[in-house]
Amino acid sequence: MRTPDCEFLNLMIPRDSATALPAFQMDALESGLVAERERALARLEASERTLADIVSYSEGSPPDDEHDPEGSTIAYERAQVSALITQSRDHLAGLDQALGRLRNGTYGVCERCGNPIVLERLLARPMAPTCVDCAAG
Ligand SMILES: [Zn+2]
Repeated sequence: MRTPDCEFLNLMIPRDSATALPAFQMDALESGLVAERERALARLEASERTLADIVSYSEGSPPDDEHDPEGSTIAYERAQVSALITQSRDHLAGLDQALGRLRNGTYGVCERCGNPIVLERLLARPMAPTCVDCAAG
């Protein structure tokens, strides 16, 4: 027996149509992506400031002064922060791609096989460019 609630849920989650995500779901996903982009951008800027600090600190320290033993620590920290910056840039690029797909109408379609990506996956991983099958394979 179907309750009105089930019917409502079935209307909300179209399981068999391609890009037919309801507009309010698209809006919710878009604002989630935009908010995530702002956080990612803030992280990137913080990492870039940290890197600039490390660079100016190491440039201010002559190689032969008493801080020389710290040289390797600075190099290590610099590598760590550089890795964070690369990660943040990749993350931002993924978010931008997802937002681009949202705006050109290809969002929610697997970029590999062209099948719709189920809403559950988009909610869990809004940046996902591929369906579960393609991501697994
Ligand atoms: Zn696919």
